[in-house]
Formats: sequence, structure tokens, C-alpha cells
Amino acid sequence: MSATLINGTEMARSLRADVARAAAELRQRHGVTPGLAVLLVGDDPASQVYVRNKVKACEEAGLHSVLERLPADTTQDALLARIDALNRDPAIHGILVQLPLPPHLSSHLVIEAIAPEKDVDGFHISNAGLLMTGQPQVVPCTPYGIMKMLQALDVPLRGAEAVVVGASNIVGKPMAMLLLQAGATVTLCNSKTRDLGAQCRRADVLVVATGKPGLVRGDMIKPGAVVIDVGINRGADGKLHGDVDFASAVEVAGAITPVPGGVGPMTIAMLLVNTLEAAQRGLARA
Ligand code: NAD
Repeated sequence: MSATLINGTEMARSLRADVARAAAELRQRHGVTPGLAVLLVGDDPASQVYVRNKVKACEEAGLHSVLERLPADTTQDALLARIDALNRDPAIHGILVQLPLPPHLSSHLVIEAIAPEKDVDGFHISNAGLLMTGQPQVVPCTPYGIMKMLQALDVPLRGAEAVVVGASNIVGKPMAMLLLQAGATVTLCNSKTRDLGAQCRRADVLVVATGKPGLVRGDMIKPGAVVIDVGINRGADGKLHGDVDFASAVEVAGAITPVPGGVGPMTIAMLLVNTLEAAQRGLARA
């Protein structure tokens, strides 16, 4: 058996076109252009690539975007002052601080300084709390994009066994909440989980987000399962690899996301969706 490949690039293209249409309508009807500010502190090479891609995607969809590069020795107070100014800027509907931050800065304090309605990453404690209590407002881009993928593929979630491997605040935990709210029975695994294979083999839907290349192999997958590989790991060969061993998994799964070309493009598309929705909510509040 060979799994169907889930084409995240194609799904993301279609979502981005939807955002571009909705943004054009917002501009024509209300004179509002959704605006995203991206703050990058320091010169981490991977972060540079990520922010460039985010800003480019914004421009292609007709969104207003501002990239602010701050030096690596920026103080906490200086960064909080920039966030405060952006919180009050009416042309900015979304603020994203690229993580990781240099070690002298507290990502916790920085995220909490962003106005929750402009927190387009969905990491603010108030957005996390709203999601947890079933009143999602801004949902973190990666799990939100995965839900869109599962919906587009008509994957039945009510009563399904869903296993999420990796319990970070930005991927695993919100993913588990969204699957739970969609009616799945959810198991959330972490690095201390005993017999990961046994947990994974129960999954009708398996989401893997650990940063451990090739952690989940084909023999850990239930035949026919939908496998979503969130991992992005640069191998010694210079290529990107997922957290799922693709060669063995593709023989067992029913459908699987490739790396690259699976979850990654959807994450960026959802950032545009979140920025658009933040601008729409802003109008509704005005
Ligand atoms: P993280 O390091 O914050 O969290 C990793 C989680 O995996 C932890 O909960 C840890 O307990 C768990 N884990 C580690 N080893 C494990 C093991 N052997 N068995 C079970 N669980 C284990 O990572 P993160 O920020 O959630 O990112 C995870 C991966 O997803 C990384 O490769 C990252 O680059 C990638 N990522 C991709 C996108 C995208 O858009 N495709 C977005 C965010 C993160």
C-alpha cells in the first residue's frame, strides 16, 4: 500500500487566494488593509528565512506588512516599548515576534505584552485560555492549518482516535485541544511517554511534532491512518526531514504529509488568515 500524499503547498495556495480576495473586499468596502508587523531580534539564519517568507506571503496576498529587525542586544524594555507602539498602531492588526528570542529576553513576557486581539500567533495566555475553554479566538497557525487540512480531506474526527506526539504550547497542546473539540478521543504524548509505538498504533489520525527526525516509523502506524508530520529538521545532507520516517510510513499510512510541502506552507497561509480575521474583528468592534 502507498499512502495518498497530502499536498500542503496546493491547499495553502488556495487559502492564500481566498485571503487575497477577502482582503481586497475589506479594502474596497471599508478602506482597511490588514496589516502585520513582524519583529525579528538578532540574526538567527533560520529565523531570517522564516520572517522573509512570512512578509513575502503577506505582500503577495495584498496585506500590509512591516518587518522590523532589531539588534541581538536589544533590551527587554526596548522590545516591550516597540510592542506597545504597535499595539496602538491602527494600521497594524497582527503582531508576530519571531521565536526563539536571544537568551537575555523573556519570550513569556514578550508574548504577554502583545494585545491579545493582535496576537496572530495565538500564543498569548488569553488566546490559549479561550482555546482551552472552547471559545477559540486566535488559534495558533500550525494546528489551525492542520485542522483546515483534515477538513479539506474530509477526515472523520468525531469518535476517531487521535494521537498527538509532542506537547509544546505552540503545536502539540493546541492541536490536542482542537482535535478534542472536533470530537476525537485524544492522546497527547511527550518525551516521557512509555511505549510510543503502542500509543501511535491506535491512531486513526496521528500528528507528530517533536523535532526528532524519523522518530515515528512505519511499524508504529496503524494501516490506513492519516499521518501529519509537523517536524522540520535540517539533515546532515542539507535537506529538510520530518519527524516521521517517510519511506516506511508511506507504505502503511492512508494519507501522509510530505516534508517539505506539507504542514509548513499551511502554517504561513494561516498567519495570513489570522491577520485578515484580526482586521475583520477590529472592524466589527469599531
Ligand atoms: P518543542 O521542542 O517545543 O516540543 C517538542 C515536544 O516533543 C515536547 O513536548 C517533547 O516532550 C516532545 N518529544 C520530544 N522527544 C520525544 C519523543 N522521543 N517521544 C515523544 N515526544 C517527544 O517543539 P515544537 O516547537 O513543538 O516543534 C516540533 C517540531 O515541529 C520541530 O521540528 C519544529 O521545527 C517543527 N515545527 C514546524 C512547524 C511547521 O510549520 N511545519 C511549525 C512549528 C514547529
